[in-house]
Amino acid sequence: MSDTEIIASLPASIAARVVSGGVKDGRAIVVVDVAGLDNTARGEIENAVRDLIGAREDVDEVRVVLTAEKRARRIIAVGSGKGGVGKSTLTANLAIALRNLGHAVGLVDADIYGPSQPTILGNRGKRPELAGNKLVPVPNRWDVPVLSMGHLVEEGAAIAWRGPMAGNALGQLVDAEWGPADLLLVDLPPGTGDVQLTMLQKFKPAGAVLVSTPQDLALIDAARAGSLFEQSKVPVIGLVENMSGYVCPHCGEVSDPFGTGGVERAAEGLELPFLGRIPLALGIRQGSDSGEPPAAQGGELAAPFEAIARKVSEWLGANA
Ligand code: ADP
Repeated sequence: MSDTEIIASLPASIAARVVSGGVKDGRAIVVVDVAGLDNTARGEIENAVRDLIGAREDVDEVRVVLTAEKRARRIIAVGSGKGGVGKSTLTANLAIALRNLGHAVGLVDADIYGPSQPTILGNRGKRPELAGNKLVPVPNRWDVPVLSMGHLVEEGAAIAWRGPMAGNALGQLVDAEWGPADLLLVDLPPGTGDVQLTMLQKFKPAGAVLVSTPQDLALIDAARAGSLFEQSKVPVIGLVENMSGYVCPHCGEVSDPFGTGGVERAAEGLELPFLGRIPLALGIRQGSDSGEPPAAQGGELAAPFEAIARKVSEWLGANA
């Protein structure tokens, strides 16, 4: 069934709002523009489309994607100078914490060389569907739809993206069917290379969050990443210190294997806001590796992410 047939099977008032639609192997996806409608009207449209399209013989399952195309979507890039500092962990948990504050959030895993969001968000092995020629983000239990190269290529397959190819791949992840999500968090690859530059130039993030461990080397690199954003005129919302202080899982005592406070001092030196520190905690690693992000669990391990999310949310309000 094509776009035209889908539209023909709906009343004119709804058909006028259909952005795209299609059926494959019994699964229908219909994207409807609901800009300007309140939640009741949106719910009515969603139910009507599900009932009418679902009643067709060739359809077993209907997915209705509501989009408010006319609302401006803002992007926040999460970057780091080097890998392994917890950038992906922060992005996922920040996205969930912002969702819990009421933002409609989507997540783009632009770390195309080492995509880890499917693991962190617990939807490995799922594939995005297509609506027209756009990707439909993969849902998960945290209500933070995500698109990752990890959902598109076989696990473990070596990806040898070269500059322009990487840029195109990234474009498809960002320019997807995000539905009502009006805030996209983008987990950038570490460093200051081509992919990051393309991202900043093409998609003009509203702001960037930079993460580093308290160690000097990671800090210097984060500062370099900072100048990349500065050159591209993307404001840095602030710096986050990750793996700051080790919380002993047995006695709760805090020790400082990598030192602490280094990122806050660097933020002062660079005249950038400091957004907060996240402890090195076994529970954070275990939660991230098992698809149970700590920000979704509440409690002590969620608190640092919630505090950072509140600051980012305030920044968004002040820079609307
Ligand atoms: P990056 O995206 O910067 O490469 P990741 O977010 O993938 O880094 O984190 C690297 C590893 O460190 C992962 O195994 C992750 O679970 C772990 N990790 C990240 N932050 C913390 C933390 N605060 N406490 C414990 N482990 C962490």
